[in-house]
Amino acid sequence: MLKRCTCGHAMKLILRTVIHARKVSITNVPVYSCEQCPRNEVFPGVKEDLGRLVGRLGSDPKPQHIPFDEVHEWAGVLREALARKKPLQAVSVASIAEERTNELLDLMLIASSVGDEAWMAELKSRLSQLSAQYIS
Ligand SMILES: [Zn+2]
Repeated sequence: MLKRCTCGHAMKLILRTVIHARKVSITNVPVYSCEQCPRNEVFPGVKEDLGRLVGRLGSDPKPQHIPFDEVHEWAGVLREALARKKPLQAVSVASIAEERTNELLDLMLIASSVGDEAWMAELKSRLSQLSAQYIS
């Protein structure tokens, strides 16, 4: 799970806290961080959804704490992968993503059997987060 920085050094995928408008702390945001220079890049798989989240908060949000790994499936998968093994291995990330997909599909089965449409919609959006391409 390495990426090359524009300075030529390796960038490591880490989870960090992003502060928005000095009031909101968003924890466990997957970010590529360079080992040599101060460059950081948001993990491509979550970039759009993070942008949407920040957009929804607006420029004058109320102080709050948002665990991004509960908002976004990729952040959850990466947190789990880092908890199991460091540094991140693409193969273990892939297997955790697959486990999580199966878990969501099982839940989907339950949600549809009880006819809970709101829950189904929620699960569907989580599944689409995971199926989004994550390697840039
Ligand atoms: Zn760099």
